[in-house]
Amino acid sequence: MHLYGLIGKKLAHSFSPPYFRKKFRELGIDAQYEVFELDDISQFPELIAKHNNLKGLNVTIPYKKEVIRFIDNPDETSGAAGAVNTISIDRSTGKPVLYGFNTDVIGFEKALKPLIGNRNVDQALILGTGGAAQSVAFVLEKINIPYRFVSRTKQQPDFNYHDLTKEVIGHTHLIINTTPLGMFPKVDEFPDIPYESLTKEHVIFDLIYNPTETLFLKKARQQGALTSNGLKMLEIQADEAWKIWQRYASE
Ligand code: NAP
Repeated sequence: MHLYGLIGKKLAHSFSPPYFRKKFRELGIDAQYEVFELDDISQFPELIAKHNNLKGLNVTIPYKKEVIRFIDNPDETSGAAGAVNTISIDRSTGKPVLYGFNTDVIGFEKALKPLIGNRNVDQALILGTGGAAQSVAFVLEKINIPYRFVSRTKQQPDFNYHDLTKEVIGHTHLIINTTPLGMFPKVDEFPDIPYESLTKEHVIFDLIYNPTETLFLKKARQQGALTSNGLKMLEIQADEAWKIWQRYASE
């Protein structure tokens, strides 16, 4: 029986296991979906060696960037984004060969574009600099929206949270949260930005999907901003991961 799974650090409330188990049941596919909590990404090769029926993996927080060093063939998008969230494993030659993909990119693009619609968004802020932030940046580049990263540590030549003045926020009409702030169970947390500068001109996107409305989104909505959580992105990226596994299974 083929095995699929999810790697990450804390996976108790993940979307993927019930999503894929339901899909396998509905399609009558004889496959299992398991979660693999790794304390450190160095445990990854052992996981691949141990489960010789493992065909595909989803990758979640905090390993999307770190896992890339174990991938034999990252596709163009995951290579350019510097983050892998979907892995397909080919064992036809005896030795496992790992193919890497990034379906967060297509998920974010397909969720963002209809939200922006005809609005003229001339610059964006990406809160956080992890794996998901790279995917978001890749999409913004593709659709020609200039962006700056916001980091606690300012390792990249962009903003620190202290730099986010009322003026900066007032003039930046697209703000995307890619930090885990506000994610269940720590629902009382939120990124430190001057919310009073948000207006109905702003589009505020949170990649978090649990809870449905984070405090970040609630505060933005109360200022009249257009808001979206990460659920649509999540569903699209999962469907795309499934298409990839199917494509490789039939080759
Ligand atoms: P990650 O690689 O761990 O990156 C998160 C980034 O957020 C870090 O690099 C860090 O940037 C910042 N950060 C972490 N803790 C913080 C804190 N306490 N305060 C302020 N900033 C903090 O995680 P990820 O894989 O990018 O995922 C990030 C979030 O996006 C998660 O909530 C995840 O569930 C969500 N996500 C959703 C979807 C979807 O389909 N909806 C897809 C991907 C990810 P600095 O160190 O530079 O501050």
